[in-house]
Amino acid sequence: MNWLSNFVRPKIRALAGKSDVPDNLWHKCPNCEAMIFHRDLEAHLHVCQHCGHHMRISAEQRLAMLFDDSRYHVIELPKPAVDPLRFRDSKRYVDRLKEAQTRVGRQDAVVVAHGTLGGHPAVIAAFDFAFMGGSMGMAVGEAMLAAARLAVLQEAPLIAIPASGGARMQEGVLSLMQMPRTVIAVQQVKQAGLPYFVVFTDPTTGGVTASFATLGDIHLAEPGAQIGFAGARVIEETIRQTLPEGFQKAEYLLDHGLVDLVVPRAELRDTLIRLVGLILQPQLEPAEEVAEPEPEEVPEEAETAPEPAAEDGETAERAGE
Ligand SMILES: [Zn+2]
Repeated sequence: MNWLSNFVRPKIRALAGKSDVPDNLWHKCPNCEAMIFHRDLEAHLHVCQHCGHHMRISAEQRLAMLFDDSRYHVIELPKPAVDPLRFRDSKRYVDRLKEAQTRVGRQDAVVVAHGTLGGHPAVIAAFDFAFMGGSMGMAVGEAMLAAARLAVLQEAPLIAIPASGGARMQEGVLSLMQMPRTVIAVQQVKQAGLPYFVVFTDPTTGGVTASFATLGDIHLAEPGAQIGFAGARVIEETIRQTLPEGFQKAEYLLDHGLVDLVVPRAELRDTLIRLVGLILQPQLEPAEEVAEPEPEEVPEEAETAPEPAAEDGETAERAGE
């Protein structure tokens, strides 16, 4: 701190117009430490073009990246009681919460939005790790329930995109109660016969992994994402064994069956569109084509060939299911 930084620099900033000058034009890749110009970073969807490292992004960036024409509607979420335990560690929880709300610009860690994905209606619940480590408190539980209800109402697939350190310790047992609540949310979607996708992003751990995040019909993951329950160091200390290389990484979990697909961020939208299309379309098209001509033909040829007609009827019914 000196005369130059305290006095001259603010004056120059004021003259140049503060809003025109972004704070950081250059970003450092946390993996390979290469310096990346902010426009290049945006063009590559916040993936390092040198080493392929997928950086953490905000919920809004995530939604804009996935929905058709980056257009979506964010729904208002229920507001649960604030700090019912009056929790305090080095700071009061209410202060911590206010600070995060001001910094990130929203009420809590999840944004729920609906829009279209390749023309299909879809509901996305996207986490923001920047908001208290994406931790799951009551607000997140409410958000997941609201997302599930919206998906059922719109007969749309639900896509959860977790980025979370797990439970929000400041809410104690109330935070843990969100695990069964989010499981019920997923159940509602499944009971309505709608697909539920999970896109693991870095990191997905703790109570989030142990509840709704591992109940997807299809599990996608971004390359290099850490996915697990307890941290690797805690496990190593508990079992007193060295863990295999790449343990809890998306690629390792793909080999071991927890993840179905590891998809680079640039291909995520197209992959989701393809999967949603594959799951939703076959129900509509073949059933109509096969079932319609049947009733007219059957009565005329009933005496000569009753069996093939019955068989066709059966396949028509199966296709319709
Ligand atoms: Zn890099």
